[in-house]
Amino acid sequence: MKRIARSIFQAGYHQLRKIYRLSKGEPLSLSFLSSQTLDEDDVEVAQYWLQNRDAWYSHTPVLEYEKKFAEWNGSSYAFSFMGGRVALSAIIHALALKPGDEVIIPGYTCVVVPNAFHYEGIKTVYCDIELETYGLDAALLEAMINPQTKAIVIHHLYGLVCRDYEKLISVAQRYGLYVIEDCAHSTGATYKGVNVGNLGDVAFFSSEQSKVFTTIQGGIAVTNNPDIAAKIKEYSEKASFPSEERIDSLLHSVLLNYYRFKHPQRWWRGDWAHVTLGHKELVSTTKGEEQGQRPFYYGEKMPAPLASLGINQLNKLDTYNQQRRETAHKWDLWCTQHGYKTPYVVPDSVPVYLRYPVLVEPEKKEHPGWARKEMGVELGLWFVTNVHPADWLVENCPNADLAVRQCINFPGIIS
Ligand SMILES: *Cc1c(COP(=O)(O)O)cnc(C)c1O
Repeated sequence: MKRIARSIFQAGYHQLRKIYRLSKGEPLSLSFLSSQTLDEDDVEVAQYWLQNRDAWYSHTPVLEYEKKFAEWNGSSYAFSFMGGRVALSAIIHALALKPGDEVIIPGYTCVVVPNAFHYEGIKTVYCDIELETYGLDAALLEAMINPQTKAIVIHHLYGLVCRDYEKLISVAQRYGLYVIEDCAHSTGATYKGVNVGNLGDVAFFSSEQSKVFTTIQGGIAVTNNPDIAAKIKEYSEKASFPSEERIDSLLHSVLLNYYRFKHPQRWWRGDWAHVTLGHKELVSTTKGEEQGQRPFYYGEKMPAPLASLGINQLNKLDTYNQQRRETAHKWDLWCTQHGYKTPYVVPDSVPVYLRYPVLVEPEKKEHPGWARKEMGVELGLWFVTNVHPADWLVENCPNADLAVRQCINFPGIIS
């Protein structure tokens, strides 16, 4: 009762604030950065599964999802988990990385990436990024390699294919290091006609609620190497499914996110959904996790309802990625008109623009309200720290530090 009273009070406050903002010339419905690929058909999938609880732990939709994703991405093997971070954890197991090993990762990443290594006692060494695509800087990589180094993580941030893709892989190969591709932002981006995630040894994707496609939480590991695939399978077979309570929350979150972030009348339906469903919401990264703790549910694989949602999302992904590219033209124009540099598109690459990144004055990142009024969008503030959003000290990464202060991002999909 208390919760409902509080959320009705909050909803009323939000509505008043919207009226005030409307009077200041801001639009009633903003374009958000999260869950933009959710539609009525995804709500129907969620509702179907909420009414068919007996089949939640059936394997069939999961195997179908993995097969479809592998085919769609042009990869030999795919395995689904309850997060990109969990897929990475499966990869660490598959590569038999051990305590004392070192891995080189970008000094501009999400905290769950170093966490996955730290949980296994592996040391992460941060390498600076370049400022054209925010990828690992190939000119700096070689000097960071030592006899303990076993792997590198390269990423395709914001959906841009990283600048030194082939060069990074060739440096790693020369030293016998594994290349793990972080494709959490770049599902569907291609380089020389091949989807990202196929050039390194192994890759992970994310379908968390703020990513290119969504199952609220979720991730996939892919590889073309049968030995690595067999080891990931081993990890998957031992992994458990989320509890019924978690699945119930995730399915209700599909409804909640759709009404909050995507529904045409989200300006009021979002607040109402928060009153009725807000208590079902789960956080993607707990406070403890931000501090380096391992949550108790870490390591789970994907159950049937979310795999089924994943299949529905995958069917729409190419269309949505095309929309993202079209939206990018609009932001290109804005950059040109306002004297900012447009993101660098590597020759022979097709990006997916999960978010459109621009380097602006630090004040524009510190006080992001201007974007609501000027452009009707919620401004993206990834990354506010080097290992977003944790405040860990990352040294000798001046480009990453600059991006932390100055990189803002616009939504890839305007709704
Ligand atoms: C979101 C994200 C991940 C992790 O994906 P989850 O599905 O949230 O576990 C990894 N790397 C980057 C760069 C990300 O933004």
